[in-house]
Amino acid sequence: MKRDTIAVHAGRPSEGPLSPPVVLASNYRTYGYAREEGSPTWEAFEAAIGALEGGESVAFASGMAAVSALLEPLPLGARVVGPAVGYTGVRMLLDARAAAGRIDLAEVDLTDTEAVLGACEGAALLWVEVPTNPLIGVPELDRLCEAAHAAGADVVVDATFSTPLLLRPLELGADVVVHSATKFIGGHSDLLMGVATARSPERADALRHARGTLGATPGALEAFLALRGLRTLAVRLERAQATAAVLAERLAAHPAVSAVHYPGLASDPGHERAARLMDGFGAMLAFELAGGAAAADAVCERVRVVVHATSLGGVETLIERRARNAGEVAPEALLRLSVGIEDVDDLWADLDRALGAG
Ligand SMILES: *Cc1c(COP(=O)(O)O)cnc(C)c1O
Repeated sequence: MKRDTIAVHAGRPSEGPLSPPVVLASNYRTYGYAREEGSPTWEAFEAAIGALEGGESVAFASGMAAVSALLEPLPLGARVVGPAVGYTGVRMLLDARAAAGRIDLAEVDLTDTEAVLGACEGAALLWVEVPTNPLIGVPELDRLCEAAHAAGADVVVDATFSTPLLLRPLELGADVVVHSATKFIGGHSDLLMGVATARSPERADALRHARGTLGATPGALEAFLALRGLRTLAVRLERAQATAAVLAERLAAHPAVSAVHYPGLASDPGHERAARLMDGFGAMLAFELAGGAAAADAVCERVRVVVHATSLGGVETLIERRARNAGEVAPEALLRLSVGIEDVDDLWADLDRALGAG
């Protein structure tokens, strides 16, 4: 079956209600405590994501909870190859662990295949993001997995921006794929959740163990909502992605815009890789303004349909000022757009007016 169909049907009970109900339980009769054993509502969500990814899924309280559970078991001093440009929360967590002497961190440009390969020697873990935040760069995932494995490193892919529909990290060689389900999977900006999916059952067991000991368990309502969100992911994404392509073209032609970062543009450095590795170019794009940081702030203030807010992946289009690197005091005029499902011309009219003459 195609993944759009799996997203609609996987994880349903075989009898009784068509959709898995919210089960509120910390413990079960005789044996079983939810923090260790899980709960039927999480399990339904895990079954659905696992079916999409082709692995065994473990749901977490948030994307960062899943990330922490993946980093926690690393031995002291383990070499980790991670993103020089990537999701801020992950970069800050890696930096903090490196500063405390817990890991030996090599930060690389994930889109520079040779640089990543050069850093993998002796590494325990390669952490990849596809596409990368905030520049929507596309790492060469299949080659990176092959080389990392040859060097003895595991590969974890944060595929939050791709969603489980546009990228198959486990098929491309990754050991674990992680998502912030807070974003496209939930899709409605009303929950926090994460999910990690492992190729091997042993790795999934280790993740469940880490979830239990770290106490990073999701809420039943969140798991219910995340699965409900997953049911409509294909149609939301199809719409948002088509709109993103139109907005990217129009932004690229706008006099106030100096650069657009979107792998769907034929001129984008990630275009060929994305066309080869992904099943779509996604709904995230970034652009830079000729007028600098002040112009970027002005756009955020002027938008009326697009919402000036952090986060991504919801039905509503969001715009946010981004620094290229964590800790950097945003010297540049980079704006990140998470495209939602509103009418494309309403969105463009709003952006065009907010951009002004530049
Ligand atoms: C949001 C996000 C996370 C963290 O997820 P939370 O659910 O906010 O904890 C990790 N990686 C990426 C790429 C994200 O966008």
